[in-house]
Amino acid sequence: MTDTATDSTGRKPAGALFVVATPIGNLQDLSPRAAACLRDADLLLAEDTRHTRTLLEACGIARAAGSIESLHEHNERERVPALVSRLQAGARIALVTDAGTPLMSDPGSLLVAAAGRAGIEVVSLPGPCAAIAALSIAGLATDRFVFEGFLPAKATARRAALGTLAHETRTLVFYEAPHRLEATLQDLATVFGAEREAAVAREITKRFEHVYRGTLAALAQQCATDANMSRGEIVLVVAGAPASEDDDAEALAAASTLQVLLQELPVSQAARIAAQLTGRSRKELYERALALAPPKPGA
Ligand code: SAM
Repeated sequence: MTDTATDSTGRKPAGALFVVATPIGNLQDLSPRAAACLRDADLLLAEDTRHTRTLLEACGIARAAGSIESLHEHNERERVPALVSRLQAGARIALVTDAGTPLMSDPGSLLVAAAGRAGIEVVSLPGPCAAIAALSIAGLATDRFVFEGFLPAKATARRAALGTLAHETRTLVFYEAPHRLEATLQDLATVFGAEREAAVAREITKRFEHVYRGTLAALAQQCATDANMSRGEIVLVVAGAPASEDDDAEALAAASTLQVLLQELPVSQAARIAAQLTGRSRKELYERALALAPPKPGA
């Protein structure tokens, strides 16, 4: 191993876990330091070993047979104890996922936490991350932001999740599957308000990289008519709510109450009980409930 992995004192080297970012589309984004680590680590843990072998081959990185093993969401929990033992025995282990930074909507958090608890050095080899790349080109505020990963796939759960975020004043970053983009933009326009500014960043670092900017309503409409917009990989960046809305802690509490009631009750009943519990206007809560309520069957 190079750099921090080299023990120049000649002592038995301590094990270390290297968390290595890989390209999100453009292979030239693999840093020289990352390439050296992927070449020299005793063991390479990959989300999909075939995918990572393709990356290594394309970047001219050779590895000994059998020195790449899989670590993905379905086997991470069971693999962690043995991997921590290997780290404690002095192994230098590199962790990668299919694209971008491990742990960012990707596997690795259980291993990193366990290694940290065991006193193993955990080293970052930073690089591409679609969320950060999208923020850097969206044209929205970046001084404060929240990363929400993927929203729930089902419409009801998605709207409920958005309801809890409607008053968030920081810029919001979501990952989204292309086939759900239009529905998600429509839900965002309904729950956050049609005029909220947003950006859809697709295919970052790839040939068809493009950023669509506009209000949520305009983006939802564009998505319905422009098939290119929902092709490829997508990050959604949404402006935060105006700060004055956030000041109203009562409104936030009322929205959360409503959210819970709507899981069990029809709109008018949920709004009435939420108004009784919070002392806020029934009309205001009814309108909010209409936006949050699950669609009627067939609607
Ligand atoms: N760990 C990765 C990272 O650091 O960005 C993210 C992994 S997550 C499973 C995959 C999601 O990231 C995609 O569905 C998409 O929302 C986003 N993504 C990844 N690559 C992208 C790209 N080149 N352009 C836009 N979004 C991308």
